[in-house]
Amino acid sequence: MTTKPFNPFEMAQQQFDAVAERLGLDQATRDLLRTPLREYHFNIPVRMDDGSYKVFHGFRIQHNDARGPCKGGIRFHPHETVDTVRALATWMTWKCAVVDIPLGGGKGGVICDPHNLSDREQEGICRGWVRQVARNVGPTQDVPAPDVMTHGQHMLWMMDELERIRGEKLPGFITGKPVGMGGSLGRTEATGHAVIYTVREAMKELGIDIKKSTASIQGSGNVAQYAVDLFTQYGGKVIAIACWDNNDKKAYTYRSEAGIQFDQLMAAVDKFGTISPAKAREYGWQQLPGDAWIEQEVTLLIPAAQEGMITGDNVGKIKPSVKIIAEGANGPTTVDADKVLFERGIFVIPDFLCNAGGVTCSYFEQVQCNMNYYWEKEEVLQKLDQKMTSAFKAVSKLHRDKKIYMRDAAYMIAISRVAEACKLRGWV
Ligand code: GLU
Repeated sequence: MTTKPFNPFEMAQQQFDAVAERLGLDQATRDLLRTPLREYHFNIPVRMDDGSYKVFHGFRIQHNDARGPCKGGIRFHPHETVDTVRALATWMTWKCAVVDIPLGGGKGGVICDPHNLSDREQEGICRGWVRQVARNVGPTQDVPAPDVMTHGQHMLWMMDELERIRGEKLPGFITGKPVGMGGSLGRTEATGHAVIYTVREAMKELGIDIKKSTASIQGSGNVAQYAVDLFTQYGGKVIAIACWDNNDKKAYTYRSEAGIQFDQLMAAVDKFGTISPAKAREYGWQQLPGDAWIEQEVTLLIPAAQEGMITGDNVGKIKPSVKIIAEGANGPTTVDADKVLFERGIFVIPDFLCNAGGVTCSYFEQVQCNMNYYWEKEEVLQKLDQKMTSAFKAVSKLHRDKKIYMRDAAYMIAISRVAEACKLRGWV
């Protein structure tokens, strides 16, 4: 039973320690890689719409940049903690390494709830965040991106602020920007589609017909939405989707035996990904408790919401029909639940491989910005498919050859690459 509050950074370190042991890494390399290289913690004073001032707390954590500039999103969340950001920065290092892009790992956050902030107040937070780290970020140092509750408009305000400070155009400073303002076509679809590229490859290897498969998804934000899009395009059926309802301050699972369609989902969600109960009723979707998504009789589960969602407490509810878990979210499975999945032989596509499509497309965006030449959407998505498929194949080959868990195989590839880069640079 899980009794202690979930700490993602402890989990990231436990995962790292186990693999470092298996790889026989020397002590200095372990010390270097199990904690971030640099951390920035700062206050962001903002003048609110009513004329008062409020101080928000922000972070940027740079875990490792041996393979290239740090890369990773910025989250706006009322329950943000420094340990969550540390864990996510660490996972970004492994994510960029496993798909073999020349970037390191970073993550940022601000403790705030955008639901209760006007656009002008959010702009104040974005600009204030950049002012606090302006010397430590940029195209060759650290390149942020969107994450939980941040999107293209936030990125653009941040880019504009850095350009004002530096007095030059720097579109390669930040990714996930709107198309036409330095953004890449395909970035909106990238993470969700890439989750399904890995599912497609896993199903091929396991001999599962995607057209006869069903899925239950936790989350209804960008990743979940575009996972629904491609999975249904491939002929699969999404029968349940769970979402956080900010009005009721609780989660619901919506279930449809006929299958949830992408167009319906897009018409039902607001900008934070909350599904309108009225729309769900109109479509005939049944409203169930928030945790019902995990106990559906499906082939595939996609946790695509937050960290720490599949735990020792609820892992037992997963039905024997479930053959694959594709981790669209970062860190959705706790270490104790992971052991159970391994023992049950469920094929897990680990988070930092499964959801690496976002950062891979961000890398393409950065390349396009630096060249000042933009590609067609088909070209972006085709390059993304290639990168994801080859990363998936390398991990699953190691998993089969060495008979090790998929997460361990992904970790072994990623950590070896980063350790090697640190060694070649003469750091350790
Ligand atoms: N926030 C996304 C992630 O966790 C994307 C990061 C990026 O594009 O840099 O992978």
